[in-house]
Amino acid sequence: MKILIKNCNLISMAEKREKYEEGIDILINNDRIEKVDKNINIKDYDKLINADGKIVMPGLINTHAHVPMSIFRDTLDGYGLQEWLNEKIWPMEDNLNEEDIYYASLLSYLEMIKSGTTCFNDQYFMTDAIIRAATEVGIRAHCTRTLMDINGGMEERLNELEGLINKHSNNDMVTINVGIHSLYTCTKECVERAVELAKKYNLYVHMHFAENSQELEDIKKIHNTNTPIDLLEKYFKDVHLVLAHCVKVKQEEMNKIKGLDLNVAHCPVSNLKLGCGVAKIKDFIENEINVSLGTDGQGSGNNLDMFEVMSYTALLQKGINENAKLLPAYEVIKMATRNGAKSLKMQSKIGSIEEGKKADLIIINLESEKTQPINDIFSNIVYNTRGNNVETTIINGNIVMENGKINIENEKEIYKKCNSIINRLA
Ligand SMILES: [Zn+2]
Repeated sequence: MKILIKNCNLISMAEKREKYEEGIDILINNDRIEKVDKNINIKDYDKLINADGKIVMPGLINTHAHVPMSIFRDTLDGYGLQEWLNEKIWPMEDNLNEEDIYYASLLSYLEMIKSGTTCFNDQYFMTDAIIRAATEVGIRAHCTRTLMDINGGMEERLNELEGLINKHSNNDMVTINVGIHSLYTCTKECVERAVELAKKYNLYVHMHFAENSQELEDIKKIHNTNTPIDLLEKYFKDVHLVLAHCVKVKQEEMNKIKGLDLNVAHCPVSNLKLGCGVAKIKDFIENEINVSLGTDGQGSGNNLDMFEVMSYTALLQKGINENAKLLPAYEVIKMATRNGAKSLKMQSKIGSIEEGKKADLIIINLESEKTQPINDIFSNIVYNTRGNNVETTIINGNIVMENGKINIENEKEIYKKCNSIINRLA
């Protein structure tokens, strides 16, 4: 299938191109971007998209999510993190079945595709159902079987994870990684075994870290240390690490993690709602640590709109550092695209629009009262564009949403199913 996108305004995020170009055509051939140029005049295309006056940019990459947690939206008010997990979420999760996970995942994919996310990094369980739904809608998935073993279950979960790794090793749209829930829910043995698995299959490790102060106290007890930050070097040397949150990593601790292959998945909305604080993203960037963005689950992150996450990211760093010059808008867009690809070890395939890369891109319509006039396109994208400005979403060369219309048969049926799940569990 050949798709020709005509006359767009391009934010390619490619290092070798201008940051913003007008009047560009893009030729997609099957799953790849074949050509990005002015006036591509071919006749043998299968589909022509007129993008006159519209913005085309890379699909957004959500580097920390819990896809089936769509059903736990708005359950958090009045709880702290550990209370919420122990008293509300974990007991309900014990009663989820494969069909629940499938429908809860579909609801999240509706949100992602409609708001311009083309690839996500998930951490959950009953992974087969998450992948089945992802495959049906055509979204690029990074999944795992979350490991946690303070209440046992290590061996069985490791086996399940290794089974997934083998099952999907040749799947272009699904990548399995090693998901460790956290150091406060995993024993030393479990962490070591997980890292062994990551090394054996050359996979990255995805883990929550330093989300709030309570967590650090719990880690001290379980891992018998006074300095949880030292455990990163102890356990995760020579492995690619994606750490969600890192709110409680201090500036003076940066030298302890600088030498690691560490990527921070910054989830500002979730961190705010859980009362955790604000991660010192400025310090990570100054220490050349890759920072990408994530929503976390909808329980804490509210929704999966990565545009909203970009806006919070910029505003918070300017605010807490009392410096309006920090984090220019283009750098924030980079976090949601190129840096995300780097986090997920996908930078040769996605994260920018350039010839040879996978065709994961979105078309945005800025003809709206909140996005006109356009004085600075990058500021417009970060501060005023939102998911509902996304008109068309293309993933791996497939149009999964066109002019706001998505290839899922019955959206209302999905809402109904998700409501019935939560009614049953509550
Ligand atoms: Zn999380």
